[in-house]
Amino acid sequence: MLPKAKKKFGQHFLTDQLIIDRIVNAIAPKVDDVMIEIGPGPGALTLPLMGKLNHLHAVEIDRDLAAALVNTVRARFAASQFTLHETDVLDFDFAPLGDRFRCVGNLPYNISTPFLFHLAKYESALIDATFMLQKEVVDRMVAAPDTEAYGRLSVMLQYRFAMKRLFDVPPESFTPPPKVNSAIVRMVPLATDRLRAIDDAQLAKIVTAGFGQRRKTLSNTLKPYIPANEIEALGIDPKRRAETLSLAEFILLADASLVG
Ligand code: SAM
Repeated sequence: MLPKAKKKFGQHFLTDQLIIDRIVNAIAPKVDDVMIEIGPGPGALTLPLMGKLNHLHAVEIDRDLAAALVNTVRARFAASQFTLHETDVLDFDFAPLGDRFRCVGNLPYNISTPFLFHLAKYESALIDATFMLQKEVVDRMVAAPDTEAYGRLSVMLQYRFAMKRLFDVPPESFTPPPKVNSAIVRMVPLATDRLRAIDDAQLAKIVTAGFGQRRKTLSNTLKPYIPANEIEALGIDPKRRAETLSLAEFILLADASLVG
């Protein structure tokens, strides 16, 4: 029997076996992978993943679910095959997992954006990540310039990751059903020779400022960082808005703003 879902932890449990199989197949675990699951809950993905792995890490905030999950896992697997970290994943330090780990999970939608920014800090050690997210968030992750969904999340993640929407998942696949559609996305860190800003923190500031007031022009939103004439000197019309800029143009602006 499924536990009662707690709203504050964004709990919607996967109950559709076909979808569970599709997700596990998309992840394609290899026996020796160092893998970590975020928000295992009652274990819909945990158990089939463990069936294919020597060992699995998981991070769960809900103590009740964590205690029940440990019992469920122990009934089928050796204790040494499972490490459960009972904590908030936003505070979780991924570094001890080493420099080649994979991350998966049916994420709690209420923390998905801060979690993605947290995970991005470990990009150099991440092999790949496969997540179920609110479809609208996946739309924003993979959005191109000049579209409604394009924003800070798109630019800051596309700076680090190649991202692909794999398939959509309807609300009926969960208990209780969420109010929104969901989608599976795969994220793979880009090669180290990718386009880089001189200073990642400055790029983040420029992108945040640009999208802070989406409808305003760059000459307005970026005034504290780079004057309009310098924007123009880069070949970018200062009357444009952030939502029209490519990642390469954001990097140009961030780098130029450091010189001033
Ligand atoms: N993986 C399960 C499934 O597919 O049925 C549960 C998915 S449910 C959408 C999200 C899970 O993340 C819940 O188990 C919830 O308790 C857990 N969770 C919520 N917030 C969390 C946080 N900040 N850190 C770690 N786990 C969290």
